[in-house]
Amino acid sequence: MNTQLNPDNLAQLLHSVFGFARFRANQEAVCRSAVSGQDLLLVMPTGAGKSLCYQLPAIALGGTALVISPLIALMEDQYAKLAALNLRVARIHSGLDRSVSRQACVEYLRGDLDFLFIAPERLRVPGFPEMLAKRPPALIAIDEAHCISQWGHDFRPDYRMIGQHLPGLRNGAAVPVLALTATATPAVQADIVAQLGMTDPAHFIHGFRRENLAIEVVEVPIPERPFAICKLLTKRAHRPAIVYATSRKQSEALAEQLSQMMPAAAYHAGLDGETRERVQRAFLTGQIDVVVATIAFGMGIDKPDIRTIIHAGLPGTLEGYYQEIGRAGRDGEQSRTFLMHSYADQRTHDFFLNRDYPPTENLHEVFRMLREAPRTIEELRAGSKLGEEEFDKALEKLEIHGGARVDFAGNVTLGTPGWKKTYSIQAQYRAEQFDKVLRFTESSDCRMCALVRHFGDDDDARQPCGRCDVCDPAGAVLRMFRRATNAERAIAELIVDELRPVDHKGAGSLQKSVDPSGRMNRDEFDGVLDALARARIVAVEDAVYEKDGEVRRYKKVSLSRLGKEARSASQVDLLISDGIAEEFATLTAQRGSRKTVKTPKRAAATPANLSADGEALASQLKEWRMSEAKRLRVPPYCVLHDRTITAVALARPGNPRELLAIEGIGPGKVEKFGPAILKICGAK
Ligand code: ADP
Ligand code: MG
Ligand code: ZN
Repeated sequence: MNTQLNPDNLAQLLHSVFGFARFRANQEAVCRSAVSGQDLLLVMPTGAGKSLCYQLPAIALGGTALVISPLIALMEDQYAKLAALNLRVARIHSGLDRSVSRQACVEYLRGDLDFLFIAPERLRVPGFPEMLAKRPPALIAIDEAHCISQWGHDFRPDYRMIGQHLPGLRNGAAVPVLALTATATPAVQADIVAQLGMTDPAHFIHGFRRENLAIEVVEVPIPERPFAICKLLTKRAHRPAIVYATSRKQSEALAEQLSQMMPAAAYHAGLDGETRERVQRAFLTGQIDVVVATIAFGMGIDKPDIRTIIHAGLPGTLEGYYQEIGRAGRDGEQSRTFLMHSYADQRTHDFFLNRDYPPTENLHEVFRMLREAPRTIEELRAGSKLGEEEFDKALEKLEIHGGARVDFAGNVTLGTPGWKKTYSIQAQYRAEQFDKVLRFTESSDCRMCALVRHFGDDDDARQPCGRCDVCDPAGAVLRMFRRATNAERAIAELIVDELRPVDHKGAGSLQKSVDPSGRMNRDEFDGVLDALARARIVAVEDAVYEKDGEVRRYKKVSLSRLGKEARSASQVDLLISDGIAEEFATLTAQRGSRKTVKTPKRAAATPANLSADGEALASQLKEWRMSEAKRLRVPPYCVLHDRTITAVALARPGNPRELLAIEGIGPGKVEKFGPAILKICGAK
């Protein structure tokens, strides 16, 4: 056995060849598995250092590593890096001269290369796979392996062929195959393993947890969002920021509003290349603080100090959402992300889904018109019952899935009937992806854990993050919570008693038994259940059952370990979700949702000159704020702003009503901090 393969030598090669002081998390375990000859699937986020996980084993094993990569830019980047380390490396892709490719083949066959990079479509070139097979590589790495999956947005048909070539490339030798990607859900992971025909591969799925992101998911009605977004971003500490909009129109409108208060710009696919380039550069150099973008923004930009990511509407997939919030806080500093949603988003999304994936009947309608003899698109369109756009969309989908053949002149002929299967699989997959986003917003599970679990890292999904709106309701900036009322507390106690003797119960039947007279509506009851879940007294899981051959979804509720230990639910502080913080709501929304609170005329918070007594009070308040911020694990300004402290010291409120009259203090703050503040102010 090669003596280079012991663990100490891996560490040594890490220094001597790559110049790195130590392994990053998980790299060593992956490298060891690869040098032992095992096939493996590696899923780690962008920037985690996946390349090293095939490059180091390749050096340790000796021989040539064959690397399949989908993009010329990625290949050139790795080529340059490895060449700079004095490693022997070549690449073959369509962007190069034929003579360069020929030279690469010669070197490969002579065994003069440490690395050979190829584009997957090369495998279609007659004779090329056979040439490679003459000299089995030391290992085969497939970068961006999610391109294999037809479910992914990056699906590359050429990646599909890799699997059938692998046995030939291995040519009977024990050559480990490494599949690497930053974005693959468990379903896509399984697809990759199956497509590549990997044998008993090791799975390494790591590093999705981000320690410095505080995720908030907040219900905000669509008309209220522009105001809340502007209000959030007027705080200097919340910038630089990216706002993700759901349409070009929304992106333009928001950018317009924001730019009245701060340097902001829109960025979407409808803008010309020059404008987009300019916006991107201005954001990178700090001339622009906020970019309001559709999903086209952020790929390949690496700005380390982004403090806030706001989603002004629901994203289509959790993978996309994770990538987008992941752009915040690359410098490791505290950063916040806000996802705004409401019931109306679901309808917008259904609309887009229906437009992009029309009903199968529409496709049938067009398919039935097709014959072996070519007909023009115009002719078919005129003869169809479908509207013009509907027809075009249906034909487009039919063509993609092989049901129709369209030539360059716009003549259409009959394809194969197999389209129906792949089309419905894809449409259903898209709908399910969105369903997962909806369940994410409704869940009372730690947000970070939910995302980590989504990527399949179940081991890491157990530890609550302590920062999100679920883990730390009091620390939430936009989302508001209030103490439970006596009626809500009573229901909470009944829920706990009801669950004590059983393993679990469905939310619906639980409600019937604890509130038989129906004093609470379903939303109010769910509010109590969520509060219990956030307090980790109960666990709420999505579950399904079958009835009349149909799969139905329900919420399965059980007592947690903590819930079993607690003698009664009254021991915990129950916080009920209560819309958004007052300072981010428009007056209309405040009037609508907080009818009961009459706010007296507000005392202005002018930067005042405090008396000596006032100064003393202000510094007492600041001391308290510090300890409160530590306790809640939030920055001090989340408890009270400096100017609010000044205003309090100036007004010296004697009761909650006077406290409420101070600018920067809403009902939520009075509820949360009122008693403490009033005590410091000397109120009786
Ligand atoms: P990924 O493919 O996972 O997105 P890369 O492999 O491109 O990430 O690595 C990202 C960066 O991290 C590269 O600049 C790489 O040189 C660096 N890197 C990788 N491993 C280490 C390490 N052990 N120590 C220091 N830097 C590393
Ligand atoms: Mg990479
Ligand atoms: Zn959390």
